[in-house]
Amino acid sequence: MANTRTIAFIGAGNMPQSIIGGMVRGGYPASAIFASNPSRPKLDTLEEKHGIQTSQDNIEVASKADVIVLSVKPQLMADVCAHLRENLPNLADKLVITIAAGIRIEKYHQYLGDDVRMIRVMPNTPSLVGEGVSGLAADSQVTENDKDFVTEVFDYVGKTIWVSDEDGIDVLGAVAGSGPAYFFEFMAGLQQVAEELGFSTEDARTMVQQTALGAASMASQSELSLVDLRKQVTSKGGSTAKGVEVYQNAKLDKISADAVKAAVARNQEMA
Ligand code: NAD
Repeated sequence: MANTRTIAFIGAGNMPQSIIGGMVRGGYPASAIFASNPSRPKLDTLEEKHGIQTSQDNIEVASKADVIVLSVKPQLMADVCAHLRENLPNLADKLVITIAAGIRIEKYHQYLGDDVRMIRVMPNTPSLVGEGVSGLAADSQVTENDKDFVTEVFDYVGKTIWVSDEDGIDVLGAVAGSGPAYFFEFMAGLQQVAEELGFSTEDARTMVQQTALGAASMASQSELSLVDLRKQVTSKGGSTAKGVEVYQNAKLDKISADAVKAAVARNQEMA
């Protein structure tokens, strides 16, 4: 860790629990991590599992931290921010990160004040299993050191991609945020046909999910482009070539483009 800072998660749901777990497993000092939540059970689990400090009072944890991570549901954000602003006189000294979907940085400046340093992060659901990809956008007041810190935090649950403006977050959300659903849809189709052709549900699922994992692993270990990787596993005139031809004739690339553009448009409608 290039720089350890005290960090407080406001809201202790699934996503912050995974980030905290990743941080502690990765060697980030538990004593520098705080979390708050209205009810105790999630906090008790976090204390027992990771040894961090918790409170049911957002202000108590936020006042102890250099960095605040807003991790409540989007519909609660305005109220949670108003409460922080009213009760934290030195808010402008802190770095504020939000992981909530769909709320732009400009809105947080309205909620928290123009002088707050804000970073918006869009983690995707595989972050829950340490294989996420997060899109990050910063306002103009954020320092390079702030960016390095936040990159390291989200690298604990996967990989990080900085975007130069928040339209990039909408695109990343449509590719990586919605992407697991696209892959599940595709995988479910492969599983279904394997079952129709005689395999048990269990074996069909195993072969599909292991193939997806294996293909993703091969891609992540190779420097070849995805097209070249596909060519590498497709012998001319063979059975894979026949199968690939069916996808190409159905214009799978066009279907992917339409799906992503539809999701980008929806992200922009909701922002
Ligand atoms: P979650 O529902 O699991 O957790 C939200 C937590 O906030 C709950 O524990 C709730 O008790 C707590 N809470 C409610 N009111 C509060 C208050 N006033 N102060 C403090 N805590 C309060 O949700 P999650 O999946 O952890 O998502 C949290 C945020 O992360 C959301 O804004 C969501 O948009 C964003 N996000 C989640 C994912 C994901 O895959 N789970 C992906 C990207 C972004």
